[in-house]
Amino acid sequence: MNTIKNLDLAVIEAFGNQLRGELIAPSDSRYDETRKVYNGMIDKHPGLFAMCVDVADVMAAVNFGREHELLVAIRGGGHNGGGLGLCTDGLVIDLSGLKFVRVDTSNNTVRVGGGNLWGEVDHATHPFGLAVPAGIISTTGVGGLTLGGGVGHLSRKYGLTIDNLLEADMVLADGSFVTVNANQHTDLFWAIRGGGGNFGIVTSFKFQAHEVKNVFGGPTLWPIEQTEEIMEWYHDFITHAPDELNGFITTMVIPGAPFPAHLHNKQFCGIVWCYTGDLSKAPEAFKPVLAKKPVFEHVGEMPYPAVQTLFDGLMPHGLQWYWRADFFTELGPELRAQHLKFGSKIPTSLSQMHLYPISGAASRVGAEETPWAYRDANYAGVIVGVSPDAADAALITNWCKDYWEALHPYSSGGAYSNFMMDEGQERVQASYKHNYKRLQSIKQQYDPKNLFRVNQNIKP
Ligand SMILES: Cc1cc2nc3c(=O)[nH]c(=O)nc-3n(C[C@H](O)[C@H](O)[C@H](O)COP(=O)(O)OP(=O)(O)OC[C@H]3O[C@@H](n4cnc5c(N)ncnc54)[C@H](O)[C@@H]3O)c2cc1C
Repeated sequence: MNTIKNLDLAVIEAFGNQLRGELIAPSDSRYDETRKVYNGMIDKHPGLFAMCVDVADVMAAVNFGREHELLVAIRGGGHNGGGLGLCTDGLVIDLSGLKFVRVDTSNNTVRVGGGNLWGEVDHATHPFGLAVPAGIISTTGVGGLTLGGGVGHLSRKYGLTIDNLLEADMVLADGSFVTVNANQHTDLFWAIRGGGGNFGIVTSFKFQAHEVKNVFGGPTLWPIEQTEEIMEWYHDFITHAPDELNGFITTMVIPGAPFPAHLHNKQFCGIVWCYTGDLSKAPEAFKPVLAKKPVFEHVGEMPYPAVQTLFDGLMPHGLQWYWRADFFTELGPELRAQHLKFGSKIPTSLSQMHLYPISGAASRVGAEETPWAYRDANYAGVIVGVSPDAADAALITNWCKDYWEALHPYSSGGAYSNFMMDEGQERVQASYKHNYKRLQSIKQQYDPKNLFRVNQNIKP
């Protein structure tokens, strides 16, 4: 593997001349700012950033990386927990200049650039009364979230983000450009719906959008001591709820404003709801929830982009994050007891556990229709240790690992790839289960030398 340091300046200059975007090298005053990603725990030192602004830039960058045998990372929104949008010493192909959103109201589709963030998509679609299923934080990148799967507020009603992907433009490892969809390069189209950035750089996505304008949503909280009772009720309730009702369950701390002062710095079992059905029927749909007498509820009608940004303020860029994840089919008594135990000792006010329902529409897609193998698991679980203070790194990491170890024996095996750090091959294979072999053979065909390896890697 070559490094940028070994290349002649003239070679790098010639590369720069091929681009409309800029190159940013370690000597550049913008370098340290440019190498920051969302997770403040990540401290990688790339040899060079290619700040691409169009498809031609991406093609030139891929060719440059391949011809000079460089380690190549692709950065979309830069949110990845393990910092997989960056590499040390190699080339980062940065897509943040590749942004546009075009809504086509003739068929409710949306064309989005490879470097867009979800908040930009929501902003563009909302005036048309449309939304594309995504995650729960608006600063996440469209690229990484989509290619890994995409779990969020609309999963029960409209499926995962990949279930709404209609087409993608891609630059492949050999520098060629292809459009993949249900009729063209169908193997690649299958692989990118969950297989991550292993197969090429997506320069634009085309999504099916849905009629979602205002929703009825927000959080309900119960004291952490009620975790076992609320989880048992929730499992039964959400499994039988109409698709229109989504709610992910969490153990968390209320960190401060805008929540009332008497809740601050206490642990809770919470559920964050998003109801996309007929709004006049929302109060009826929430009756069973309110009958469980939450100690706090802030559920009401709001624009869809508001529910998508509920947590943005709490989770700014640059915090320390440590991630662990697993899928779960049941929330049995032993598991619920562990949630009570570890939820009661959350170490910092931003550390949390989330269980996202994979039921409703998300569960009706076949386990081999996309690489996303765990359609029959009822939940994608994630534990995040989070703190603004780097001195807390060991504290949040240890709590997260211990919580995960306690839950793991009750898990379904693998984890949602976008909720993992850099955990090695065994975990990647477990996460794709029976689909790993097919992913491997497609990788062998399109990227036999594993140029795109800074990801949850499918080994050719
Ligand atoms: C605060 C927070 C909240 C989150 N909430 C959710 C959620 O609700 N639902 C959910 O499903 N996930 C969620 N995630 C996880 C998220 O999906 C992953 O972190 C994802 O990797 C982020 O994508 P990105 O483009 O921002 O990341 P990056 O760090 O830029 O990239 C991540 C990976 O994707 C690849 N990649 C990115 N763009 C492209 C592209 N255009 N072409 C090819 N490869 C590309 C990169 O090479 C890298 O391997 C959340 C993450 C955070 C930090």
